[in-house]
Amino acid sequence: QAPDYIRAISPYQPGKPITELAREMAIPEASIVKLASNENPLGMSPLARDAALGALGSIERYPDGNGFALKQALSARLGVKADQLVLGNGSNDVLELVARAFLAPGHSAVFSRYAFAVYPLAVNAVGARGIEVPARRYGHDLDAMLAAIRTDTRVVFIANPNNPTGTFIGGDELEAFLTRVPADVLVVLDEAYTEYLNPAQRYDSIAWLARFPNLLVSRTFSKAYGLAGLRVGYGIAHPEVADLMNRVRQPFNVSSVALAAATAALGDEEFLAQSARINERGMAQITEALAELGLEWIPSAGNFVTFKVGDSATINAALLRQGVIVRPIGGYGMPEWLRVSIGLPEENNRFIAALRQALA
Ligand code: PMP
Repeated sequence: QAPDYIRAISPYQPGKPITELAREMAIPEASIVKLASNENPLGMSPLARDAALGALGSIERYPDGNGFALKQALSARLGVKADQLVLGNGSNDVLELVARAFLAPGHSAVFSRYAFAVYPLAVNAVGARGIEVPARRYGHDLDAMLAAIRTDTRVVFIANPNNPTGTFIGGDELEAFLTRVPADVLVVLDEAYTEYLNPAQRYDSIAWLARFPNLLVSRTFSKAYGLAGLRVGYGIAHPEVADLMNRVRQPFNVSSVALAAATAALGDEEFLAQSARINERGMAQITEALAELGLEWIPSAGNFVTFKVGDSATINAALLRQGVIVRPIGGYGMPEWLRVSIGLPEENNRFIAALRQALA
């Protein structure tokens, strides 16, 4: 018998595989435009591709369980020590390691309404209690989150930018929040989309680690680095926090192919800059179209934008019939909204044309 707290979990709802959708819609798979999972429409850096293929040459070996090379590269890039890093099988794994290391039955964790769906999953899976705080204009209300912290609270999750709403909290506000959080509460700052921030939005969360030993910054290679299928993310924290998380980590949680690709991807700054440029232009292209169609959307700092259509099931079905996949977010309590990931200009055009038709 599984414990009650496991039975109470509602499963994460992943999108359907493209092959299956193509079959259902009776359209060729190649004609489908998938803008549903905030992936990088450019693919991956050629350097990462070469490294991944190279790693296949010794696939009979276990990966380096300590991720030495990737940690060295991250240390150099971020200006932190290797013992401040935790590698994960995607940053979802990092979030789960937080829950396993810092939460148990009797504890609580605070997160915002409309925040990333994996927070309650990770919290509930270890028998802890999630405290969902009402949002402020679809984003995090940091004052309310602070007020929600109880004596049994051990973790606060913040997604910046947030998924699925794309909302963004400025560095000053975050820093002020950190100074007010009790020292025995770990603040998880989930920066999965941080590479998409524009220069005016950027803030230096890594510099805060020296002042706030209860901060963990979580990042991923799934978005701007284009390695979603390989599953690699990382956490940066005080060495004691990283040590505790590494204790509960599976010894070989990141594959050798993923380690090699991520290490190489980190060195391809031009690819990263190009990804950000494509995203900025695509965001303008899509939001201009949403404005023209008279639709409301939430200004987004990520590589996706969430817009209001009312009857999202009908609009989504009409988009699917035209081979365009976006993400309904009813599961997030936003049944009137759809989330679209920013694609290449031509993919964005396909989406815009299909949406125009769906609304007609
Ligand atoms: N955090 C946020 C806010 C996300 O949107 C995602 C991806 N949907 C993740 C973490 C996890 O991504 P991954 O496990 O691929 O690193």
